[in-house]
Parts: sequence; C-alpha cells; structure tokens
Amino acid sequence: IEEMMVQTEKMLSVGGLAAGMAHEINNPLGGILQGAQNIRRRVSLDFPANHKAAEEAGCSMESVRTYLENRGIIRFLDGIHESGRRAANIVSNMLEFSRRSEARRTSVNLGELVDKTIELAANDYDLKKKYDFRHIDIVRNYDPALPQVLCSPQEIEQVLLNLLKNAAQAMPERGEREDPPQIIVSTSYDRGRARIDVADNGPGMDEETRKRVFEPFFTTKAVGEGTGLGLSVSYFIITTNHDGQFTVDAEVGRGTTFTILLPLEGK
Ligand code: ADP
Repeated sequence: IEEMMVQTEKMLSVGGLAAGMAHEINNPLGGILQGAQNIRRRVSLDFPANHKAAEEAGCSMESVRTYLENRGIIRFLDGIHESGRRAANIVSNMLEFSRRSEARRTSVNLGELVDKTIELAANDYDLKKKYDFRHIDIVRNYDPALPQVLCSPQEIEQVLLNLLKNAAQAMPERGEREDPPQIIVSTSYDRGRARIDVADNGPGMDEETRKRVFEPFFTTKAVGEGTGLGLSVSYFIITTNHDGQFTVDAEVGRGTTFTILLPLEGK
C-alpha cells in the first residue's frame, strides 16, 4: 500500500507538468494519426488479388508489384495508426490526473447515478463492442434512506463505469460455470458516509495483483487492451478529489469487490 501511495503521490506531484506535456503531445500526435490515415486513403489497392487474376486481367507485372508493395505499406500504416491511438489513450488518461477538483459539485442521488451509469455501459455502442454486458446479471441493491451526496457526478460516473468495464472484462462467459456471471452494485449508509460496493463473481485476483491494482500503469491485460490507468485515475478521483476512500477485496476463483466511501457533505 505504501509503495502504491508513493507512486500515486509521485504521479500527482508531477500532475501539472504531466498535463502540460499531455497537451503538447496531443497536437503532434493528432498530426501523426491524421497523416497515417491520409496516406492510407491514397494508397491504392485497385489491383487484382493475385498473380493469376492479374495476368487474366491483362495487368503488367509492374502493377502487380505495386499492388503487393502497397499492401505492405498499408500494414505499416495500420501499425502506426494503432500505436498512435494507444498513445492518445494514455495521454487522455494523464490529463485526468491534472483536472483536480475543478469539476463542479452537485447534490447527487447515488442510486440514480448508478442506474444512469449502468444504462450508459449497457447501451453505448463503442463499449458494447468491447465489453459485453448481455450475459451478465446486474443486481441493484440501493439503500433508499441514503441521503444525497455532494460530489462531481461526472467523476463518480467515470469511476463506476471503469469498475463495471473491468468486471465485465474479467467475467467468463455464461455457461463456462454453474452460477451465472453477476455484478452486484450496492449503495448504503456507512458510519456517516455514503458507501458504494461493486462486487463481481469473476476470477478474483491473487494477492500480488490485488496489492498493485491502483498503481499507475499496472495492468494484466494484453498490450493495447489496457493502459493500467483506469483504477489509478479512479483512486485519485475518490481520494484526492472527494476526500473519500477506495479499497478492493478479492479472492481467487470467487470474485472481486471494490468499495467506495464518500463523505456526505462533499469536499
Ligand atoms: P486496465 O483495465 O487498463 O488494465 P485498471 O487500472 O482499470 O487498468 O485495472 C488494473 C488491473 O486490475 C487490471 O489489468 C486487472 O488485472 C485488475 N482488475 C481490475 N478490476 C478487476 C476485476 N473486477 N476482476 C479481476 N481483476 C481486475
């Protein structure tokens, strides 16, 4: 935990610098992405697919060679585009660290906010392509007596979305096991604070992983799949921006529970 705090502190202390850099990197990066796309559009693939087809169509050997070269070039361009997109993803996450408490605070009904986030996760087209929620039972368990919380709804939504995405991604398909994949989202009143639990019955985590999940850039996902920034940004939002607590409990083979505690009167 201490190690992680040091890491996060380091990240935060360079927050301003990181934000400046992120802004500076964004423009040239946009240029690279745009450039790769522009060239991609110009590289023609209007040639027969193979040798034989080319001969039949009366194409010269020269044109066949050009076709094959272009195919290679397109692969390189797609590589550039994909790497650029990954860098842009990291940059946009870095920017989150610098936003600090600028986000406006409003009085929020947490149950409603959770509902809205679940809808968003389940209906957003881009999300649906990557994280499939259809096979997962989402159980809602809200304490109706929980008072409104003073917080930034955008930021809390971002944290919740991240937790839902992670849970959905970790979850095996229905049918691979006896009990159906399930995410339970609860809100409750806990000793003067508002509490949100997001519990899944996925694979859980080993001790080593559990200790490191809030570390910036820690990820167990494949290259290009995860940036390892989701939970560290979330940690920053909950602790620094909202004066709250953010913890995780996990057991291998049984599941993972993330718990958020927020002061009711806000920060
Ligand atoms: P990313 O999702 O990009 O990897 P995160 O910071 O959101 O970055 O998560 C860090 C790591 O924490 C993940 O790579 C995964 O190993 C682990 N993790 C997060 N949520 C869960 C979960 N619900 N079940 C199992 N592992 C999880």
